[in-house]
Amino acid sequence: MQDLRWNEVDDYFCRQLVHQDAALEAALAESAAAGLPAINVAPNQGKFLNLLARIHGARRILEIGTLGGYSTIWLARALPENGRLVTLEYESRHVEVAAANLARAGVAGKVDIIQGAAADSLQRLIENGEPPFDLVFIDADKPNNPVYLELALRLSRPGTVIVGDNVARQGEVANADNPDPAIVGTRRFIEMLGSHPRLSATAIQTVGGKGYDGFALAIVER
Ligand code: SAM
Repeated sequence: MQDLRWNEVDDYFCRQLVHQDAALEAALAESAAAGLPAINVAPNQGKFLNLLARIHGARRILEIGTLGGYSTIWLARALPENGRLVTLEYESRHVEVAAANLARAGVAGKVDIIQGAAADSLQRLIENGEPPFDLVFIDADKPNNPVYLELALRLSRPGTVIVGDNVARQGEVANADNPDPAIVGTRRFIEMLGSHPRLSATAIQTVGGKGYDGFALAIVER
């Protein structure tokens, strides 16, 4: 399901509103040149994350799923001088590309990339007494979203904002019979967001250059 108008409107919004600079363009170009899949957020979604982090006054951000560091750059740029972003990535090649992209964008000093399975990295952060994050962006392997949410909650405080990407999945999220582990994981994630006593959440469907999808937004209440 794809509508050419979605692309046109995304292009128009990006031209008028997003003002992507050379470092962000280079991050996408270098990621493509290195053979990374183009599964980064769209530029207007990156700017949305940046604005959300700034509106929230985030000083500490956790990202699960780095890829080439494109969304990482948008989020890191929202941080104050002494802010910190921890981003988790399994693939060593992605970590290498992201590290170069973050350095070129001038945000490497604020970002720690932790390589490994995100669930293990989150567990280690919890065991090491990592202070709570102000904003968490969950954008890795979707079957593990329920695990990431539980662990992220242990690294949260009342007021922490949690964003989960790709929750509509071309509408398949509403199909309870779809056995795809990404759909099953996303449905469980949505159901946890809706029933968890510490969370208040919503989800919004989106269309655009990345097709038909959506994101979930939650706040930790207590
Ligand atoms: N947030 C990135 C952006 O918008 O620029 C896109 C992230 S991409 C959708 C998902 C990333 O999660 C991929 O780089 C993939 O290698 C990584 N990933 C997949 N499974 C993982 C796991 N178990 N632990 C950590 N990272 C994982």
